[in-house]
Amino acid sequence: MSYTVFALKWRPKNFEEIIGQNHIVATLRNAILKNRLAHAYLFAGPRGVGKTSTARILAKALNCKEGPTAHPCLKCSSCNEIASGRSLDCIEIDGASNRGIDEIRVLRENVKFSPVGGKFKIYIIDEVHMLTQEAFNALLKTLEEPPEFVKFIFATTTPHKVIPTILSRCQRFDFRRIPALEISAQLERIASSEKVAVEKDVLFAIAKASDGSLRDAESVLDQLISFSKGKISLKDVVSVLGLVDQESLFEITDRIIQKDALGALNLLNALVDNGKDIQVFSSSLIEHFRNLMIAKVSRGDVKLIDLPEESCQELLRQSESFTLEEIFSAFNILVNAQEMAKRLDSMRISLEINLARLAYNQRSAASAASGASQKQPLTSPKSAPAKEVPASVKTEDSIQPISLDTIKDSWQRLIDNLAAVKISVATYLSEGEPLKVLKNVLTIAFPKNYSLHKESLEKKDNRVIIEKGIFDLFHTDLKVNFILSQESRVKEDSENNSFIRSALDMFQGRVIKEE
Ligand SMILES: [Zn+2]
Repeated sequence: MSYTVFALKWRPKNFEEIIGQNHIVATLRNAILKNRLAHAYLFAGPRGVGKTSTARILAKALNCKEGPTAHPCLKCSSCNEIASGRSLDCIEIDGASNRGIDEIRVLRENVKFSPVGGKFKIYIIDEVHMLTQEAFNALLKTLEEPPEFVKFIFATTTPHKVIPTILSRCQRFDFRRIPALEISAQLERIASSEKVAVEKDVLFAIAKASDGSLRDAESVLDQLISFSKGKISLKDVVSVLGLVDQESLFEITDRIIQKDALGALNLLNALVDNGKDIQVFSSSLIEHFRNLMIAKVSRGDVKLIDLPEESCQELLRQSESFTLEEIFSAFNILVNAQEMAKRLDSMRISLEINLARLAYNQRSAASAASGASQKQPLTSPKSAPAKEVPASVKTEDSIQPISLDTIKDSWQRLIDNLAAVKISVATYLSEGEPLKVLKNVLTIAFPKNYSLHKESLEKKDNRVIIEKGIFDLFHTDLKVNFILSQESRVKEDSENNSFIRSALDMFQGRVIKEE
């Protein structure tokens, strides 16, 4: 018996077997039942998600001797001929090869002739966007006045390249990437039917790597089974496919929680030594924090996370060590790392710096919280208690005179630093202007229509965060005081300047340095 590759062998034969496209299957079946079929369909979507398979099943459903039926018999000559690509009434054209000119010409000549055996004459045109302009035009003429018995099914991976005059004549279906959980369930069915023992986490890793393409996943499983002698281990799959395993994502995040910057860097180093693609790792870590965010906001309802149950439980556990703000902040830092990598031309250096920053941020957020209200700690009790407030904060001799100019010059930096601790504080503060420094009190003015910003920052937690941020940046122990000016802010630069001027006037301030 000859060997058939999995992707062919397991190709769906009827609507029931199509994986992950329920919305499309339901609509098509309904159209068949109610006899409301369109003349032309466009199946759009990524490769390997079932577009051509669905087109063939629809063709069978239409031309089955019991058809049109939502349940083609798969036994009659029409069903068999379509399945083996021999049907004279179901013509498949590949838009990608020779760009379809000859085929479309033949199509135009033959389209008027009635079907040979079936009820319909069905043209399946794959990669329709690849057709030449000439072929498109020829096709369009036929599409404008098709004979009653003709049906077109176009498939494309890039629907935006299909000309609008064609698009407007089609009923469009968007095929989605198939979730990894559904792909791995299908791989499990295949493995068990092929009597091959493969662990679930191996199948899931394959599914994850195939990025929504069932066909790719089936091919990878096929190859791994034929090349591996004996058992396929997760390690094999991870190394063959260049994947990042969930375990290392959890481990490095644990280091961040433990404020163990060195531990995080060592883990990263080990990954690099093991030949991991650091770019892939960086993206995976961003996705990991996205999943932590979902785990946090969903409070345990994790159906938005496309991971096996055990990983979801682990995510829930890990998410308890973060506040939502901290997750957002980590997310920003990791995205920033990718930007920085482009400028540095080194993902490794950028990731090292930002991992250390992440571990440090956990610390600074925690220490800010230690001075804040006990009712709303920034970090949950699970993370280690912070004892990091610099001792010098309390000592008188650490106080140095600081000029308003110095503060103004580094104002943006202060806001950037605070953004990593608590986004809302940074956002609100960015609307204020440092106005004066007097006896260790920094006065910050807000336009009078920004009282909400002022009130929010006056809360003890937020005040502590700002004062700590100031200390970290200027090494000066300043208290902050917020005031409202009598001017409203109109969002224009010239208005901004006049606002500052009038605010200065009002408080007998002096423009020390004017440019
Ligand atoms: Zn049939």
